[in-house]
Amino acid sequence: MLADNIFLKIIDKKIPAKIVHEDDLCLAFHDIHPQAPVHVVIIPKKEIRTHDDLTSEDAVVLGHLHLTAQKIARQLGLHQGYRLVLNCKEDGGQTVPHLHMHLLGGRNMGWPPG
Ligand code: 5GP
Repeated sequence: MLADNIFLKIIDKKIPAKIVHEDDLCLAFHDIHPQAPVHVVIIPKKEIRTHDDLTSEDAVVLGHLHLTAQKIARQLGLHQGYRLVLNCKEDGGQTVPHLHMHLLGGRNMGWPPG
């Protein structure tokens, strides 16, 4: 079950977050329940509910999320690598109904994921 879109409130600065990057297209902040030594969530400012809702118009913003993840990973010293995760809808484990990419690093990641 998808909860309220709390990320829109973070974009609007109505609730606080530890922001690591902000520009016209996206916002990145530390996850409130980190699953790794580094766990940053990167979100588009445009309201896009899920990966399934992406259209060709969103190609630039989606590419921008990836390049921003790369930049943050470098800034945070993840030179050994990192994992990007994008959960989509219920079966994908998505809980917040606003497209977001998880940047996880600082430890060795297992596979397969749960
Ligand atoms: P999902 O499960 O939808 O892929 O990921 C949502 C993520 O958002 C979770 O890792 C959760 O810990 C994080 N999260 C949920 N609410 C908040 C919040 O209010 N602030 C921050 N910083 N992270 C949140």
